[in-house]
Amino acid sequence: MVSDYRIKGETGEWEVVIGLEVHAQVVSNAKLFSGAATAFGAEPNTQVSLVDAAMPGMLPVPNRECIRQAVRTGMAIDAKINKWSRFDRKNYFYADLPQGYQISQLYHPLVGEGEVTVLLDEKDESSARTIGVERIHVEQDAGKLMHDQHPTMSYVDLNRSGVALMEIVSKPDMRSPAEAGAYLRKLRAILRYVGSCDGNMEEGSMRADVNVSVRKPGDEFGTRTETKNVNSVRFVMAVIEHEARRQVDLIEEGGTVAQETRLYDPDKNVTRTLRSKEDAHDYRYFPDPDLLPLELDDAFLDECRKSLPELPDAKRKRYELMGISAYNASVLTAEVETAGWFDALLSNDVDPKQASNWVVAELFGALNRLGVSIAECPVSPAHAADLLKLVADGTISGSIAKTVFEKMLESGDPAGAIVEREGLKQTSDTGAIDAEIDRILAANADKVEQYKAGKEQLFGFFVGQTMKAMAGKANPQIVNERLRAKLS
Ligand code: ADP
Ligand code: MG
Repeated sequence: MVSDYRIKGETGEWEVVIGLEVHAQVVSNAKLFSGAATAFGAEPNTQVSLVDAAMPGMLPVPNRECIRQAVRTGMAIDAKINKWSRFDRKNYFYADLPQGYQISQLYHPLVGEGEVTVLLDEKDESSARTIGVERIHVEQDAGKLMHDQHPTMSYVDLNRSGVALMEIVSKPDMRSPAEAGAYLRKLRAILRYVGSCDGNMEEGSMRADVNVSVRKPGDEFGTRTETKNVNSVRFVMAVIEHEARRQVDLIEEGGTVAQETRLYDPDKNVTRTLRSKEDAHDYRYFPDPDLLPLELDDAFLDECRKSLPELPDAKRKRYELMGISAYNASVLTAEVETAGWFDALLSNDVDPKQASNWVVAELFGALNRLGVSIAECPVSPAHAADLLKLVADGTISGSIAKTVFEKMLESGDPAGAIVEREGLKQTSDTGAIDAEIDRILAANADKVEQYKAGKEQLFGFFVGQTMKAMAGKANPQIVNERLRAKLS
């Protein structure tokens, strides 16, 4: 499927070409080349080893766990894992980089080509787009300058210095802001399933460099700009829209797009020039002489592969085979916590389709109202399963189930106890139901006339009145049957 997103200009329609470089902080207790801790939010400069501070003579030692996480991530996007890779020094001078170079991988990355498939419409398999990943390499993060601590000086916090990042470089395969947004969300979901990055964009553990160019459909690629360090899906989409528009206007006015690095200002929703784009030779890359090449053996790769969980696409397909709708399957697998909760619910032997409808409509609705995530859900999967079973076996009606669920949320009590305590059991007592029906038909003789004269929509009215009279506890199937009999 070709996306038909176009920018309209004076000279016709333009296509947008997008490639994303995502920096994802690796989940590991220690840094890429030192034993210092990586926890977010620590006091400045409390998690800095001599290696991270670049004291002379210190030697980096690769952290096996960081390599393992990057390999697992590569496997999760079906990428080629390079059993031989190597670290290079990328030299540049900046106050937050004590070494004067970043250890990265340019020539021989750990992970080669892979792919990520996204659905542009959750209900529609034919909206699937596969976006190529060029490579994943591992590298060190830099420290952070703080300009707001002192009137005339800048401070530096090296806690992040040396933390392991995966740089996940996409091919220029995306053609619209929506596609880029879907790619970023899917990539984040995969990282969270794998457990290799927490995907927390607000805390900076995942950020994207957004490459954008424009062209007339069918032409060669145009010159791209790269907007650095964009830290939310919404901002990435805004950058693309804004940059594409700016480039089209510029070209149509007779100008040319400069290959440059830009910065996004979310307050003003504009991008501005940061610096002209540097080339690889500006960084004087060379193999890091302090580190041997990485060589991975089959046992290590096997262990990485075995440790992978069921991934979102596989889970979605499995749910669909259980009779769950495409939309529900997609929503339920979009985040690892939701999928985990739902799997726990399924393990209680509930009907998958009924359970999925209930989670997507009732549970999500309640979580939204309460403003909590599923991880903080006040009702456990086991308690939710009890509620669903009470509906499935006819003990309570679907509408009473909503009431019971509200009370479960408030009290934390199990469904069965609430039903007993409040006398909410559904009644199939035909005598009681008949009595109510007779009373309602007698009180609405005019409507009975109209119904018999052909106004069949009134049937719902009679059902509603009977259910209301019985406080929602009548078995709806029996109410339907008895009403039909009496009205025919
Ligand atoms: P660099 O390392 O200099 O940033 P790369 O070749 O690694 O350059 O590409 C970086 C990113 O730019 C990739 O995500 C790639 O998909 C994207 N890209 C390359 N060419 C274009 C283009 N013409 N338009 C948009 N994105 C592009
Ligand atoms: Mg780049």
